Amino acid sequence: MSQTPTTDVPDDVRARAAALAEELRRHQFSYYVRDSPTVGDDEYDALFRELQALEQAHPVLLSPESPTQKVGGTFSTTFDAVDHPSRMLSLDNVFSPEELREWGARAVAAAGEDVRYLCELKIDGLAVNLVYVDGVLERALTRGDGYTGEDITLNVRTIGSVPARLRHEDAPVPARLEVRGEVFFPVEAFAALNAELTEAGRSPFANPRNAAAGSLRQKDPRVTARRPLDMRVHGIGVHDGLAATRQSEGYDLLRAWGLPTADSYRVVDTLAEVEEYVAHYAEHRHDVVHEIDGVVVKVDQLSLQRRLGSTSRAPRWATAYKYPPEEVRTRLLDIQVNV
Ligand code: NAD
Repeated sequence: MSQTPTTDVPDDVRARAAALAEELRRHQFSYYVRDSPTVGDDEYDALFRELQALEQAHPVLLSPESPTQKVGGTFSTTFDAVDHPSRMLSLDNVFSPEELREWGARAVAAAGEDVRYLCELKIDGLAVNLVYVDGVLERALTRGDGYTGEDITLNVRTIGSVPARLRHEDAPVPARLEVRGEVFFPVEAFAALNAELTEAGRSPFANPRNAAAGSLRQKDPRVTARRPLDMRVHGIGVHDGLAATRQSEGYDLLRAWGLPTADSYRVVDTLAEVEEYVAHYAEHRHDVVHEIDGVVVKVDQLSLQRRLGSTSRAPRWATAYKYPPEEVRTRLLDIQVNV
């Protein structure tokens, strides 16, 4: 007997789904707008997955307004709201080798040919969109809700590794270029910042991610300029003319133009090799200058990325393999945080 989704959702399930959506929105506000989370990422992820499971079991509960269907985040009134030239998405997550293999099988089936996997570190920072026009940094925006972000151009201009003007000696620069990346607070400098804040009688930041977000989203760019923020670029948005057929090849061009790309990425042919990369950095996550909360696995071929496309929230051609949370971070959330 075939099963059709029932519209008779028990009241308690409907109420639980509504409560979860409401709670997730509250946590998103604390995290994205106040830069001050009230729960750990593992707790947030567990609530998110519970809601996803209820929506899968009862598709009638699914609405485009659900937190599972949208890029989480919004924008404050401190900065001008500006539309992104193209949407900024989030990432779907996997939490185990089995889930990684399921994602890989779906990607290969949809691609219809062999996939090469680009493995990168998932930087725990703040997503930023940079728009260059004729090689000059015109605008920098936070991700916001994915359609519209906050204009933080003046603040991003204070980050030393972000070029105000792209180099064009080695490769011609497109007239218009949108690149995405992560702004982070180097781990080594984080302890010093918190010591300084505490000494000044101010509350410390809960973790480097919040320090990066709090430092970047300052009304006064001179405060941002005093913080040792850094950035790595990991995505390409709209452009007119980027001679690359693979994302990794795109990174070579970005690097030639002076943009700060990571040197830790690997391109591999099999999921077994992806798992090795994931295991390696699970062991060595503290050997990196920034915090990482996992590994991002992407289909390297740009033609296949286009074929796989995206959902309303995340690309199908990439996934984030999340590492388990570290205890110290959960404990740190108990202290009063700086906003
Ligand atoms: P996400 O952080 O899980 O992943 C998407 C983001 O990863 C992208 O937007 C991108 O900026 C970033 N990223 C870092 N390195 C990357 C790389 N190499 N390549 C591509 N992208 C890279 O998703 P999200 O939607 O930003 O946030 C959801 C997550 O944020 C949750 O899973 C949770 O961990 C955390 N969160 C926590 C709370 C809380 O209250 N603790 C609230 C909201 C969100």
